[in-house]
Amino acid sequence: MNPDARKRMPVLFVGHGNPMNAIESNAYSRAWEEMGRGLLRPKAIVCVSAHWETNGTSVTAMQSPGTIHDFYGFPPELFAVEYKAPGSPELAGRIRELCHSTSVKPDDGWGLDHGTWSVLCRMFPAADIPVVQLSLDRAKTPAEHYVLGKELASLRSEGILILGSGNIVHNLGVLNWGGGAYDWAVEFDKRIAGMIMERNHKGILDLLNRREEIRLAIPTSEHFLPLVYCLALQEKEDEVSFFTEGVTMGSLSMRSLRIVS
Ligand code: ZN
Repeated sequence: MNPDARKRMPVLFVGHGNPMNAIESNAYSRAWEEMGRGLLRPKAIVCVSAHWETNGTSVTAMQSPGTIHDFYGFPPELFAVEYKAPGSPELAGRIRELCHSTSVKPDDGWGLDHGTWSVLCRMFPAADIPVVQLSLDRAKTPAEHYVLGKELASLRSEGILILGSGNIVHNLGVLNWGGGAYDWAVEFDKRIAGMIMERNHKGILDLLNRREEIRLAIPTSEHFLPLVYCLALQEKEDEVSFFTEGVTMGSLSMRSLRIVS
């Protein structure tokens, strides 16, 4: 084994799905809790959330990021959740230093959106680990996101946990509240899982450019792109395993994965 590998933090991609997972105990939220308990405590967390799209790439750089309740029509208990993890201007600076393919802007106007806190309030409920968010630049191609993801690689050896939060299948337009998963959703989820296991990252990036072929599963790509960052961080000797699976509400894949050295 490469001696550096032992020191590398894992990389996680979490299918976050319905924001209610933050306050409901279910198979997904319990698996996130278990994952948090099983990890070595990270020094800090970088989250790439589907819910922060910007022009250019930004990183949250404030000392105390606020909790953003970026959804509508949910019960007051969900709006009452505050995830008061500190920020880390130092880590934001380190990220700006590491990224050469693009200029990363320090941000003091965002905070932690529900892509981040709905998962972290389960995974690290004490909220005592600093968290920064990295935004998704709307103008970047999938391949450019992949390149940017790779530039974060050394953070893993610095005790930083990198978390992507999105969904492999995400079509809110056809949600099926009480019913089962659509066949096309299950098929797409399995197809991507197969490509991940074959390490066919190029195939995944190519597929993201074939909009017509993926229009049902991911009519917009922001929920998928956090996965691209995670895959970019997979080193040669790293292994991938899935720690949650399933398609809920017809068209939301809840597949989560862990990449470990
Ligand atoms: Zn979402």
